[in-house]
Amino acid sequence: MYSSNMDYYRATSLNDAIKALAQNKGAKLLAGGHSLIPAMKLRVANPSMLVDIGRIKSLNGIKVTRKEVKIGALTTHATVAASAEPKEACPILAEAAALIGDPQVRNRGTIGGSLPNAAPASDYPTLITALDATLTATGPKGERQIQARKFFKDLFTTALKRDEILTSITFPAYGNMPGMGGAYLKHRHPASNYAVVGVAAMLGLEDGKVSRAVVVIGGATSNPVHAKSFESALAGMEPTEENIAAAADQMDIEATLGDSYASADYRAHLAKVLAKRALLLAAERAGG
Ligand SMILES: Cc1cc2nc3c(=O)[nH]c(=O)nc-3n(C[C@H](O)[C@H](O)[C@H](O)COP(=O)(O)OP(=O)(O)OC[C@H]3O[C@@H](n4cnc5c(N)ncnc54)[C@H](O)[C@@H]3O)c2cc1C
Repeated sequence: MYSSNMDYYRATSLNDAIKALAQNKGAKLLAGGHSLIPAMKLRVANPSMLVDIGRIKSLNGIKVTRKEVKIGALTTHATVAASAEPKEACPILAEAAALIGDPQVRNRGTIGGSLPNAAPASDYPTLITALDATLTATGPKGERQIQARKFFKDLFTTALKRDEILTSITFPAYGNMPGMGGAYLKHRHPASNYAVVGVAAMLGLEDGKVSRAVVVIGGATSNPVHAKSFESALAGMEPTEENIAAAADQMDIEATLGDSYASADYRAHLAKVLAKRALLLAAERAGG
């Protein structure tokens, strides 16, 4: 199907884009177009105007310091997957970005388009929840920061206001912290490579014992969720395969999403299997 008619405006700067968005109530931002254009062709999205932000240079790029990795909203998945500096400072980012879609999707799709879209099968939402990243949104009233744990509100719904633009996302550089490891694993849908279930795990070790365990499951519920019982069962334990398997058995994620490819029960099963594997890998990377 063809999309309905709309106006097109190519923004020349961030301020220009904010102004265009504020002046046109039915407008939507266009970044890589890999979620929005298919939605428009299905007529699920019918914007009266597309505000193309794709050429705003200030929204593109990665900055790495000892403490954090800051990624501009327009940075493509391919750039995140291939850049050497963030790979060292926050390795799980490149690991997840490399698993998104296929080369065409990774070359066009952006982190700043993926997160506001809040699709349950996408990879970055799970990741930013596990890392408790900070999102920066800019609108007519200026800039504000939103913690990842407060960003996702429901299926395809976030804390961003209609007139705000996600401008950057900041991640902790856990790669520079001794005793920290992370891993991202997903079960891919065979047709699209979207995550049927994706799991991000982080593990911190002190004197050989677990000082911090984070396990976040995406794809089983409307928004990514922490596997809290799994996380707390590991506190103070040695990260052995037996302890991790026993903690994974206590996982109590209630899957609410299901379709003809993977039922909710199957997703709950996948979550358990992937969470155990991801945490084992994170423990190995943390030096356990
Ligand atoms: C075949 C296929 C396979 C895919 N597989 C995967 C996968 O395995 N994993 C995965 O995670 N994703 C996957 N995707 C989605 C892909 O990652 C998209 O690129 C991404 O979801 C959207 O990014 P975009 O830059 O294309 O955004 P767009 O499509 O341009 O925009 C998406 C939405 O975000 C809004 N938006 C865009 N930029 C901003 C901004 N800076 N601030 C506020 N709102 C903004 C738009 O208005 C729109 O509502 C797949 C897509 C396709 C087509």
